[in-house]
Amino acid sequence: MSTASTSGSANTPGAGRKSNTADRAWLALACELAALCPPSTTAFSVGAVIVAADGTELARGYSREDNPLDHAEEAALAKLPAGDPRLGSATIYSSLEPCAKRASRPLPCAQLIRNAGISRVVTAWREPDTFVLGADGTELLQDAGVTVVELPELADAAQTPNRHLVGGDR
Ligand SMILES: [Zn+2]
Repeated sequence: MSTASTSGSANTPGAGRKSNTADRAWLALACELAALCPPSTTAFSVGAVIVAADGTELARGYSREDNPLDHAEEAALAKLPAGDPRLGSATIYSSLEPCAKRASRPLPCAQLIRNAGISRVVTAWREPDTFVLGADGTELLQDAGVTVVELPELADAAQTPNRHLVGGDR
């Protein structure tokens, strides 16, 4: 059996609900980006990376990167032209699941991801009701036909820069 029928790159995201080691590595990077966020007591620190189907990184972002209201996913999306043809087969990695409701701006990240045409989301941590009740975007995304993969083994890493908001597990 040939394993080289695709690019074979170690960076190539998994497909659909199936995750692979590249998914874990990209999501770990998103969790590391979350540590770059300017501190906040009113919003989560989140990192996001958008990766093309061939394993090319398209953009990355983190919360409050350029503006105190920025969410990580929108900071990353803002770096790409609308209608970028690579987005349709891209995966977005976000340390926290994309929001379905937010107080700061009219469009939640789940909607921005749908609008961008991204069809696969990989995340480490379901959003708790700390700031917005029922903020979790997983259902909204799945209803829109977007595949959402959760890798709970990285939840700890995703929560680390947010311990002051959600408390410790210890
Ligand atoms: Zn958001």
